[in-house]
Amino acid sequence: MTHFDVVIVGAGLSGVGAAHQLQAAFPRRTYAILEARDVIGGTWDLFRYPGVRSDSDMNTLGYRFRPWTDAKSIADGPSILQYVRDTAHEAGVDRHIWFGHRVVRASWSTASARWTIEAEHDGAPVVITASLLYLCSGYYHYDRGHQPPFPGIDRFGGTVVHPQHWPEDLDYTDKRVVVIGSGATAVTLVPAMADRATHVTMLQRSPSYVSTLPREDALAIKLRRWLGARRAYFFVRWKNVLISTFFYQLARRRPERVKALLREAAVKQLPAGFDVDTHFKPRYNPWDQRLCFVPDGDLFRAVRRGRASVVTDVIDEFTPSGLRLASGAELDADIVVTATGLRLLPFGGIELVVDGRAVELPKTMAYKGMMLSDVPNFVFTIGYTNASWTLKADLVTEYTIRLLRQLDARGFDQFVPSLDDPTVTERPLLDFQAGYVLRSIDAFPRSGSRAPWRLGMSYAQDLLALRHGRIEDGAMRFSRRPAVSSAVPSP
Ligand SMILES: Cc1cc2nc3c(=O)[nH]c(=O)nc-3n(C[C@H](O)[C@H](O)[C@H](O)COP(=O)(O)OP(=O)(O)OC[C@H]3O[C@@H](n4cnc5c(N)ncnc54)[C@H](O)[C@@H]3O)c2cc1C
Repeated sequence: MTHFDVVIVGAGLSGVGAAHQLQAAFPRRTYAILEARDVIGGTWDLFRYPGVRSDSDMNTLGYRFRPWTDAKSIADGPSILQYVRDTAHEAGVDRHIWFGHRVVRASWSTASARWTIEAEHDGAPVVITASLLYLCSGYYHYDRGHQPPFPGIDRFGGTVVHPQHWPEDLDYTDKRVVVIGSGATAVTLVPAMADRATHVTMLQRSPSYVSTLPREDALAIKLRRWLGARRAYFFVRWKNVLISTFFYQLARRRPERVKALLREAAVKQLPAGFDVDTHFKPRYNPWDQRLCFVPDGDLFRAVRRGRASVVTDVIDEFTPSGLRLASGAELDADIVVTATGLRLLPFGGIELVVDGRAVELPKTMAYKGMMLSDVPNFVFTIGYTNASWTLKADLVTEYTIRLLRQLDARGFDQFVPSLDDPTVTERPLLDFQAGYVLRSIDAFPRSGSRAPWRLGMSYAQDLLALRHGRIEDGAMRFSRRPAVSSAVPSP
């Protein structure tokens, strides 16, 4: 059976980044990336809707080891996809990807200190083994997104589209479009479709906080000229980490102040007399759910120009020509886009087994937000909800490299975080009130009330803990494979 030192699952932003750093740190270790799809890029290849873009800045969504050099710091999906592809290609990571391999089961054996990984390829089973299983499988179902059962949807005479499956040939020129939703996808789609459509209506049950970010970072562009790409990237990355951390902390500590600032900014960008409180003033505090960012205020501009409007109401039912709302109002539509979110999926739907016993995820606790209690030689990547995903993904790889070096130095084969502190209490893994999180969070592992079991949402704290913190912290256990207890570590 083919054996690898490391098997990474997923060739998206995280998997490519992890492979890139691991092979630089351990050029002699073997690894493979098992990827269910036939292409690199994950999220940034899957989503093809008009205007698809990042909503965090690329100086922090880009990898720490590879500067983002495009002028746009809020970048379009295809540019991000190209960046991930280029990263994979330049280091030869793409030669290690097994495309079309969906991992379905992974079983750990303590006796052999190995994972047996079962995948499906062209309908046939493929089995390989690995010393370390590193999941970079994202956090949601790829097959379909979330769509609530709307009454009467079958009677609707127009086209219904979910952003996760955008038809390549959908022509919305001179069409009346209704986008159902108020999250990051809806606020992206509305201005992007507004130029060609007759009119775009954003129909939301309740509002989100929407804040404007500059599409281009003027300082980044200047610094790149003066300092070169690498040094400029370092400074701009830190500038953006500090600014976003400051606003996040301000929002958590002084929510009323931040609510007032966001409202004031929205009022300035919307037409006179616009009902800001109905359409842009949520009931929750900023960062109870992810804030929506709009580059250069494009959503507000579309509303100002009359190309788009916002309706806050509840859908009663679809009609043959559009939607009837709880208020009695009717919205005519040729195209309805259901930007109603993702369906979360822990760990790519992979069944984990340890020494013959199935791992029940909700009974496990996440260690440093990147491993599971009592699951040996296993690492996973889940990024921040309040900052760029890659900030955490990079730290997860850095810590894994430190851990593997420790194993090598001490001649161990296995590591496993073990929770035996009864004072640590359980918390949800994602302490975030968004609907898509609340719908599925019970299927995920728990996090704990204290370090190292607490899931940090602060890059600065994680950086200290993961880059510089002690590896032997009492909770992490190391051991040798029973049969080779006198083995010398591999170089
Ligand atoms: C539309 C959209 C916009 C976003 N914008 C931002 C943003 O601006 N900033 C931000 O920080 N985050 C954003 N996110 C979150 C985003 O998912 C992450 O930034 C990042 O792309 C995640 O990368 P990943 O590689 O961890 O996961 P993914 O991109 O989801 O890639 C996972 C890969 O794993 C593969 N896979 C999954 N299960 C299996 C399996 N069982 N076997 C084999 N392969 C498997 C998938 O096919 C996929 O290729 C956005 C998400 C979406 C959906």
